[in-house]
Amino acid sequence: MNIKNFVDKLKNNEIDIIEHTKKVIDECKKVNKEYHYFNVISEELALEQAKEIQKQLKNKNKNIKKIKNKKLLGIAVSVKDSICVKNIESTAGSRILKGYKPLFDATVIKKVKEQGGIIIGKTAQDEFGFGSFSVNIGLGFDIPKNPFDKERSCGGSSGGAAGLTQKASFPHIALGESTGGSIAEPASFCSIFGLCPTYGRVSRYGLIDFGNSLDKIGPMGKSINDIALLQEVISGYDENDSTTLSKSAERYSETNSNKIRGMKIGVIKESFEEGVEKEIEKIVWSGIKRMEGFNIKYEEISLPFPIKYGLATYYLIGTSEASTNLAKYCGMRYGISEKLEGSFNEYFTKIRSSNFGEEAKRRIMLGTFARMSGHRDAYYIKALKVRAKIIEEYKKAFKKYDALISPTVPILPPKFSEIEKLTPLQNYMMDVMLVGPNIAGLPHLNVPVGFSNKLPVGMLLIADHLQEEKLMQLGSLFEQ
Ligand code: GLN
Repeated sequence: MNIKNFVDKLKNNEIDIIEHTKKVIDECKKVNKEYHYFNVISEELALEQAKEIQKQLKNKNKNIKKIKNKKLLGIAVSVKDSICVKNIESTAGSRILKGYKPLFDATVIKKVKEQGGIIIGKTAQDEFGFGSFSVNIGLGFDIPKNPFDKERSCGGSSGGAAGLTQKASFPHIALGESTGGSIAEPASFCSIFGLCPTYGRVSRYGLIDFGNSLDKIGPMGKSINDIALLQEVISGYDENDSTTLSKSAERYSETNSNKIRGMKIGVIKESFEEGVEKEIEKIVWSGIKRMEGFNIKYEEISLPFPIKYGLATYYLIGTSEASTNLAKYCGMRYGISEKLEGSFNEYFTKIRSSNFGEEAKRRIMLGTFARMSGHRDAYYIKALKVRAKIIEEYKKAFKKYDALISPTVPILPPKFSEIEKLTPLQNYMMDVMLVGPNIAGLPHLNVPVGFSNKLPVGMLLIADHLQEEKLMQLGSLFEQ
């Protein structure tokens, strides 16, 4: 049952929302034992919300206005740990934030709650979003496992969100976050749809920042309809986030694939070159060819900049921003703290050394280096210039094409034993297809296109700024 059907049934009193929510929480607990998709299951909050909905439904006539238009009424919504939920521990998967319970809801959470969505918990992720396999987790957290093979990764950093979305038997939608690919990549590894919207479409207020010029919150779901609905709910200007666009939310959920006839697609040639597994190439190409039947034209195009320079650009800008953002975690204001001993410097060093994970420390050092006087021009500023070039190249392509296509990830979901052997640089290479659209703030969508050895393969669709609707139209074609 998709979300829309569930909401309609609930409004018709065909579902007991309290019983349903209890079942949902039981299933989450059971799945979590085996797969570790949650950092926190917010049972109390979920039941409280369910009771409130029940109350409103009982007095339907009196509350008709309140209930009638609620797009997510009674729907289980999971939230990536880096998105703040009032009174629910929100750590972004880091031990340094252990015990931090926000005093407020992120704007996206406020919107989801207003539409009747039930918050079921905080999903597992790489610490602060630093990773592609959800293995860079803080001490005390568990690594989420791929729903198709428990010895493999569900991707990252929104790994828990993707795994849960695939595994849940109940209508569910996830809020994920992407800085350099963390929505589409895990979506690909778990065979679901994941939409990273245009930068500025969705408010970042209440998101625990990774890189402020890169972070985007977006929906992950089992169907295009589901993600369209959540995207519609969370989009829009927010006075608490000056980088949001003053574009009102569109009605994505009413989108249909009839409008795609005659669209033109550019297949990024460089994205099929070295490093892409043969099977992935084959499956993605067969996906592309399926579009011909719908009168969609495609041709190969060369777009060298994003693939060639994207990773270097992304890792310089991303770590530069992250290293300043992480400066505030020092054992004083949020999360973990200890008895104050010695000078402040000694205290901060002790807290930060023992509570940040290895990858977080690596990024703090790299980012600090890139911004340091003497290096700033050569690294950080240069990366900003390359970023402008990359955007220019995409913009040129979108004059001719409605969307661009590449594989989402160059490899199939790897085994944990294989990941252990990767160097940090090999880890970063995972994002080679994804950093481009993320740096450029372009909306992109993972579409599941097939399986190889029972492991999912995803295809990446990229559109011009604010053209999310085109992605959903094309995506729904594949869904059919
Ligand atoms: N995998 C990328 C990284 O490690 C992207 C992370 C993200 O989008 N949050 O930075």
